[in-house]
Amino acid sequence: MKVTYFNHSGFLVETENKVLVFDYYSQGKRFDFFDLKAYKGKDIIFFVSHNHGDHFDTRILDWADNVAYVISHDVTLDSTFSGEVLYVKPHETYQFHGLTIETLLSNDEGVALAVLADGKAIYHGGDLNWWHWNGESQEFNDEIAKSYQDEILKIKGRKFHIAFIPADLRLEDKYSWATDYFMQEVDAEAIFPMHFWGKFQVCQMLKEKPYGDKIIQISKANETFTI
Ligand SMILES: [Zn+2]
Repeated sequence: MKVTYFNHSGFLVETENKVLVFDYYSQGKRFDFFDLKAYKGKDIIFFVSHNHGDHFDTRILDWADNVAYVISHDVTLDSTFSGEVLYVKPHETYQFHGLTIETLLSNDEGVALAVLADGKAIYHGGDLNWWHWNGESQEFNDEIAKSYQDEILKIKGRKFHIAFIPADLRLEDKYSWATDYFMQEVDAEAIFPMHFWGKFQVCQMLKEKPYGDKIIQISKANETFTI
């Protein structure tokens, strides 16, 4: 598999027959990262985990003639939009374009996604994260812990080929809790940190963890990895 990190939580995964683009995010021009011509003959599917601006760049809709979309139910598209769209809700399983798509409930907005494509299992958390904020009330942080754990336990014992998991340094010393818990209850061969607002050092920090050898070291936008 080839994986390209675009920006923030935006990644492209290329399997044998499919191109999956998750939460495309370019702060620059639409074509800064994704070039349709590079994937001729492949089935291209864009995923939108929820409606936040840092996960849903509406310019992806301009590719509607050539791609299909899997879009969280909380996103409302213009009624005139004629592209092929599968709207997804939490806790469902869908078959679409030869993919099996399972959804979890995000504790922020929308869904997290577990996708099976060409025999490869891929997890993309969206904004499902262990949002423990230092300084928040105990009650808030307890609730967040439970909402994160409840969802991750729904995929307990699975082994993903690739997992995209938020590692947000705004959570200070708790930035890794989502990944720690994921690796305790689930498993992945390769972990891509995401939602780190350009702070690439988080990849190095996670390297120190017991699962550190599985952490992919991302160092710049539009970097490609072979997994
Ligand atoms: Zn976000």
